[in-house]
Amino acid sequence: MIIAAGALVGATVFALAWTGAIGGGDGDDSPGATTPAVIVITQPPSAGPTTAPRESPPPGTPITGPIDVPIMMYHLIGPPDRPENDALAVSEADFSAQMSYLDCAGYTPITMQRLFDAFDGKAALPEKPIILTFDDGWAGQYTYGFPILKQHGFVGSFAIVTGFVDAGGPYMTWAQIEEMAQAGDEMMSHTATHIDLGTTDDATDIEQLTSSKADIEAHIGHDVPYFVYPAGEPFRSGTAQRQAEVVQMLRDAGYKGALLDGTGYGGQDPATPYELNRVRVSGGEDIYTYAGSIYGPDPGGVEC
Ligand SMILES: [Zn+2]
Repeated sequence: MIIAAGALVGATVFALAWTGAIGGGDGDDSPGATTPAVIVITQPPSAGPTTAPRESPPPGTPITGPIDVPIMMYHLIGPPDRPENDALAVSEADFSAQMSYLDCAGYTPITMQRLFDAFDGKAALPEKPIILTFDDGWAGQYTYGFPILKQHGFVGSFAIVTGFVDAGGPYMTWAQIEEMAQAGDEMMSHTATHIDLGTTDDATDIEQLTSSKADIEAHIGHDVPYFVYPAGEPFRSGTAQRQAEVVQMLRDAGYKGALLDGTGYGGQDPATPYELNRVRVSGGEDIYTYAGSIYGPDPGGVEC
């Protein structure tokens, strides 16, 4: 980490000019084991963060309102599997720089489970908590991401599409997922085939929510209570009624919380645990944009 002489270390929270590269403007990956995905920008980029940073409550206190815990959303780590996925692929060098920045700036990655324990007052949060999530189970998350996380003593939360595992293609194997889970990383469900929960029929949705959860649990040996909406649906373009229906399906299937798709910086509200906000990390994003996306200290002024 480059040190700016005389800089006030971590003293200043700054916000960069928002480029629109973060927040909205998704398109997700819609990965398929055999069908090439097409990136479709379905929403304009957001104008900026939805909320300002908030104070954390005292350790061990049940949380009753939104809490300031940024949840980062990664997809591929390392080279993209195909040119269309450039925007989803964070290079190994950039990922390493981002993790060094978080480390030097005093952030502590936590799991979703610890966030929910904090919601319930069962666990304290570190001073600067952050959650690192990785969607779709891309192989590079294991090959390039996992060693860098370990180097910093960081945990990640991985959203697995169970039908892609051990199916060939650019996705992880069960052996790799089990190894990461054993090392303390958290596994979440991202359905069995990356279905769009806004448009598929209920029977299919319920089957995928249930089977993907059970499949991961059978491999890692413990509960999988957290879920990531594929392409953010039905919370990107679905109706309020459809959103309520899907949340009920998640409850019925035994999930305790779920993550939205790149809504940007925002508080995590225990009153809406199935609508937690995430900050998208795009390929090619420089460290200043990354820091700005979480209102972190100036990367030029952090020291470690
Ligand atoms: Zn996905």
